[in-house]
Amino acid sequence: MEPPLDRSTTWPYDDGQPGAFYYSRYAHPTGVEVERELGAREGGDALLFSSGMAAATALVLALLSPGDTIALARDAYYGTGVLFGELERWGLRHVLFDQTGAPPAGADLVWIEAPSNPLLTMPDVEAAAAHPAPVVCDSTAATPLHLRPLEDGCDFVLHSATKYLAGHHDVLLGVVVCKSSEHAERLRELRGRTGIVAAPDAAWLLQRGLKTLDVRVARQTETAIELASRLRAHDSVQNVRYPGFGGLLSFDVADGDAAKSVETATRVIANATSLGGVTSTMESRHRWEGDRVPEGLLRLSVGLEPVDALWRDLEQALAGAVSASRDR
Ligand code: PLP
Repeated sequence: MEPPLDRSTTWPYDDGQPGAFYYSRYAHPTGVEVERELGAREGGDALLFSSGMAAATALVLALLSPGDTIALARDAYYGTGVLFGELERWGLRHVLFDQTGAPPAGADLVWIEAPSNPLLTMPDVEAAAAHPAPVVCDSTAATPLHLRPLEDGCDFVLHSATKYLAGHHDVLLGVVVCKSSEHAERLRELRGRTGIVAAPDAAWLLQRGLKTLDVRVARQTETAIELASRLRAHDSVQNVRYPGFGGLLSFDVADGDAAKSVETATRVIANATSLGGVTSTMESRHRWEGDRVPEGLLRLSVGLEPVDALWRDLEQALAGAVSASRDR
């Protein structure tokens, strides 16, 4: 059993000396406990942040300087590229590359995503690790159950812990796990100074979520394997993208109208954004990402509902889309 949640922002000094906890912007007991567990799962030194994007922001601010270039996987979460675009005003450049091959020479940081959201490509981790620059792997969709990037030569693992790690669509959090303790110290210093920290309540929800991570992801994987195979056999579906593990997949229907018809017709699967929770969510990604993805692309995050209930829901929604396009 963990100690009870401590919401304190300040703790008394001991004989005039600050102890391990003295001001919660630097550290708090629940955060440190969750970081210990995440570090053990990934094989490194973990730090919590207030969201996945906060974690990404801290990482590039801590590692890079104006004039530096990030080689970013073209398929990575679209918000990561938007963030790096925002940081251009501070002199940070980024170039896109195909993560199934080697990153371009000359970059000061390499950023890959495994598997990518929502195109589900897997990076060539060996080629990335061979690059002289530090390598960050956003492993949000893989989780530490399916991939341990630090063991494969990456220097940092990043998770939007909002997704599978916390798992219940009720908390926003991010984590960076560092291979080197020097990097972790630098990040810890920057985190404390900038204040982009996770609150104790959020950390506590993550701690509880981690207790069921293994069973959730095992079940989500089992269901996703089955749904991917049934979708591949469906007449109105093309390009089922599924790497064979995890709970995230995407597929294409005929066009944007068909995608809208399918996403609004499901009743078990929520038509909502985000992924990795116990309830299934599905949405057209074109609304956010534009021409980065096909107009008919639907991203499905598989939850814990029975596979047959999910399949019946998808089948009736797909049947509606077929007749909608026939009626036009
Ligand atoms: N990385 C990936 C792969 C994501 O899917 C997301 C969010 O969707 C993020 C990072 C950003 O995380 P957050 O929403 O917790 O800031």
